[in-house]
Amino acid sequence: MKQLRNNVIRAGLGALYFSGAHHLLRPLLSGVGAIFMLHHVRPAREAGFQPNRHLEVTPEFLRATLFHLRSRDIDIVTMDELHERLLQGRFDRRFAAFTLDDGYRDNLDYALPVLREFDAPLTVYVASDFAEGTGRLWWVALEAVIARAEQIDVRIGNSALRIDATTPAAKQAAFDRLHDWLRALPGEHDLAREIGALCTRYDVDMEALCRSLCLSWAEVRTFAADPLVTIGAHSVSHGNLAKQAEDIAAQEMAVSRARIEQVLEHPVLHLAYPYGDRDAAGMREFALAASAGFKTAVTTRPGMLFAENASHMTALPRVSLNGNYQDARILPVLTSGAATAMWNGFRRIAAA
Ligand SMILES: [Zn+2]
Repeated sequence: MKQLRNNVIRAGLGALYFSGAHHLLRPLLSGVGAIFMLHHVRPAREAGFQPNRHLEVTPEFLRATLFHLRSRDIDIVTMDELHERLLQGRFDRRFAAFTLDDGYRDNLDYALPVLREFDAPLTVYVASDFAEGTGRLWWVALEAVIARAEQIDVRIGNSALRIDATTPAAKQAAFDRLHDWLRALPGEHDLAREIGALCTRYDVDMEALCRSLCLSWAEVRTFAADPLVTIGAHSVSHGNLAKQAEDIAAQEMAVSRARIEQVLEHPVLHLAYPYGDRDAAGMREFALAASAGFKTAVTTRPGMLFAENASHMTALPRVSLNGNYQDARILPVLTSGAATAMWNGFRRIAAA
């Protein structure tokens, strides 16, 4: 299913690029700006099995993106500035913001130096359990389990399954299947139990993975001291907020913010919803973020910004810089808004 979706996007982006249709669509679709979404920024790896590759781009691709934006005279702004321009309806110049989710150490090591070359600000959304070193990066843990196993024994519902994981293709199929199963479990505690059991069975230390990938609090503090960097909140546990009771979802937002504020001694005004798609952030979460006092909250719903987004500041769409499409020829298509418009069925606002 995910592969199908990727193929459709790839074909769609290719078709848009080679037909030149994005040039024709630009005046209608480009909007006033965009928020780019990234996760890891790090050098490409050799491994044949990289199921989470969509979550990483290379420093070179980030540089190409920044170069493209600068060459089109697009302002690169902080989330505070983006909020202000939307609020005041100041659209004389197009603008873009760079946002990086989760709080990975490679953001400090690889993304910041590239952003510095362009004097471009960035916002990093930190999940507080990740900075604590106790985070459950279950998609990374699942990759580690499958990478080291030849077969995966797992009980799904009432059936005991043995899933082949001998080749890179089999590993990818196993990952897709188990990833979809884990994400569809009813509650966060179900997910915690099942990934915990897999890690125990295949000897993967989830907390060690967290500490090796994520910024510690001390590093968050160092990062935040850079004038280009804004730190935002990304919940405590990185659970799906829409699946949690309202008081728990509200706490996830408030406690993560309080924890970051305690470390930085500085207010935290911006939020990214974990997962951030329609299944993880809807009207209830948008209202919770607004009443918690966040100036902006970003989703993972694809889209450019339009004047209308000013009335939906806690439901902002983003444009993903996806590791599966690191081709500089794609950049004019992404910044034209044609790709995200196609994905949204040509609706301009997806705040519902
Ligand atoms: Zn995240």
